[in-house]
Amino acid sequence: MIPGTDIALYDHSWQWHLQHAVRDANELAKVLELDLPPVTTDFPVLVPLPYLHRIEKGNPFDPLLLQVLARPEENLVITGYTTDPVEETAQHGLIHKYRGRVLLVTTGTCAINCRYCFRRHFPYSEFQLTRNDRQHVLAYIENDPTIREVILSGGDPLIMPNRQLRELVQQLSELPQLTHLRIHTRLPIVIPQRVDDELVSWIANTRFQVTVVIHANHANELDDEVGAAMSRLRENNVTLLNQSVLLERVNNNCDALCNLSWRLSELGVLPYYLHLLDKVAGAANFDVTASDAKDLIKQMTDQMPGYLVPKLVKEVPGEPAKHEL
Ligand SMILES: *Cc1c(COP(=O)(O)O)cnc(C)c1O
Ligand code: SF4
Repeated sequence: MIPGTDIALYDHSWQWHLQHAVRDANELAKVLELDLPPVTTDFPVLVPLPYLHRIEKGNPFDPLLLQVLARPEENLVITGYTTDPVEETAQHGLIHKYRGRVLLVTTGTCAINCRYCFRRHFPYSEFQLTRNDRQHVLAYIENDPTIREVILSGGDPLIMPNRQLRELVQQLSELPQLTHLRIHTRLPIVIPQRVDDELVSWIANTRFQVTVVIHANHANELDDEVGAAMSRLRENNVTLLNQSVLLERVNNNCDALCNLSWRLSELGVLPYYLHLLDKVAGAANFDVTASDAKDLIKQMTDQMPGYLVPKLVKEVPGEPAKHEL
């Protein structure tokens, strides 16, 4: 399934893994020894090998497989599920919705295509924060001294090469009002090799307090390679948090959520948010009701240390903060 041995899998660079990812539903089924109906969808399959490697062969219900495999139900039109559920538009790549922090949409690209993502309706966007946008962003921040934190988001900001990231963060660090930098990324889960020496070195050399918010939905995503990537970040004083999406059949039971929290904690990562699904067209088969979600959090609270219970939130267009349930 993987060229060479397991050792070779971890010898390659993250760029190599991006190039050699599986990009075809039929190939995915073949590699995982699954007999599945062919599907056509406008959101392509994209699974890099380190992630693929954690999926159990021959198990059509594997919780990681379900997140990446295109299914016929995606093409059903269901009332209430739209192409733009969050109603968010970035101006020059900048979203300033909440006080004290701004979010930068650095790129439209990701290293994996999660079937439940709102990105599925603009997967081809070649969006990249331009030099021009950067000047606008810097001027915007300078104009509002209440902004202290910049959040790099996307897509996945770690898709950007280290040199570009270092340059962007360098420019931001010239604004004395900014003290905190946050990076929202799934790349360290999908391709742990992304946390390479260069990345760690530019993070170690910025004056910012850095927080990396990873995105894992299931304990099986957190293998020892991910653990090693987390250690490299922690050794450089990065605060590590996780956000998950509550997903039918993937993690909508107390055992799955509790195991995820315990495993994150072993890796030095605290659970931060558990998101209710954004009602995006094509993802209805993943949806969990708010009342079931609240029950799950109640069950977790009854058996877990408080610091391992994530905040259950949902995106409500127009509210001044994430809506806590
Ligand atoms: C989630 C989000 C943030 C960060 O919110 P926190 O509560 O600080 O984690 C910032 N801006 C936007 C637009 C967001 O959606
Ligand atoms: S990594 Fe995040 S932004 Fe990218 S497809 Fe998955 S859920 Fe969406």
